[in-house]
Amino acid sequence: MARIPIIAGNWKMNKNCKESIAFIKAIAHKVPEATHVETIICAPAVNLCGMVKEQGSHLRIGAQNLHWEANGAFTGEIAPSMLTDIGVAYVVIGHSERREMFGETDETVNKKTHAAHANGLIPIVCCGESLAERENGTTNDVVDAQIVKGLAGLSTDQAKATVIAYEPIWAIGTGKVATDEQANETIGYIRSVVAREHGQDVADAIRIQYGGSVKPETVAGLMAQPEIDGALVGGASLDVDSFLGLLNF
Ligand code: PGA
Repeated sequence: MARIPIIAGNWKMNKNCKESIAFIKAIAHKVPEATHVETIICAPAVNLCGMVKEQGSHLRIGAQNLHWEANGAFTGEIAPSMLTDIGVAYVVIGHSERREMFGETDETVNKKTHAAHANGLIPIVCCGESLAERENGTTNDVVDAQIVKGLAGLSTDQAKATVIAYEPIWAIGTGKVATDEQANETIGYIRSVVAREHGQDVADAIRIQYGGSVKPETVAGLMAQPEIDGALVGGASLDVDSFLGLLNF
C-alpha cells in the first residue's frame, strides 16, 4: 500500500498563543485532505490547546516533547495523557536540538516512543548525523544505532505507526540541504535497518521524512524520491504562504 506522505512543521521555540491561533486560522481551510498528504504542526506546549480547537478537519497538531511517566514529581515536564487529553495527535521525539542541548539519549528516546504509543500518540522519532560523522563516512552507523535503540521493543503495529524523521544535523537551519539523492540514500538505509530489526512489512509501511532546510522550492525534488515520505520543516513552516507552499509539492 502506498505510504501517505507527512509534511510536519516544527515551530521550535517560536510563536506565542495569539500568533499560533492566527496562523491556524489562516491555513485551516487550505490544508489538503489527509488522503493526499498528512499535515501537522508541532508547536510549543502552551499553544497546543488553543491550536487543536482551531485545527479544522485536515490539520493535526503535534507536541515537540513529552515525558515517559504518567504523572508525578517531574517539574516542568508534560505527561503523554496531558497531550491526548487536549487532542494532540503527534509528538516529536529526540530532535537533535534536544539531544545536543537537553541531554536526550537513545534510551530516553526509546522510553518516550513507548510512552507515546501507549497513550495513542504518534511519535516522530528523529535521527541524523553531524557534519563530522558525514565527512568521516559513519552516517549509516550513526543512524543505524539511533534507530535500533530508539525503536527497540515496539510491537509490529507500533513500529508501523511510528514516523521517523531523518535530519542531518549539518542541514538543520543552515540553508545546506542534503541533495535529493543523499537524503534518499540514507533514508533507504534507515528503511533497511527497520526491515532487519522489525521485518519487511514494517519497513514497507513506516513513513520516513527528511528534515533540514526544506523550503517550498526544494520540497518537490525531495518528495519525488522513492524512499522519502515527507518532510519535517523548521524555518519554512513559520510563514503562512511558505507553509502552504510546502503542502503543494
Ligand atoms: P529547518 O529545521 O527546516 O529550519 O532546517 C528542521 C528541523 O530542525 O526540524
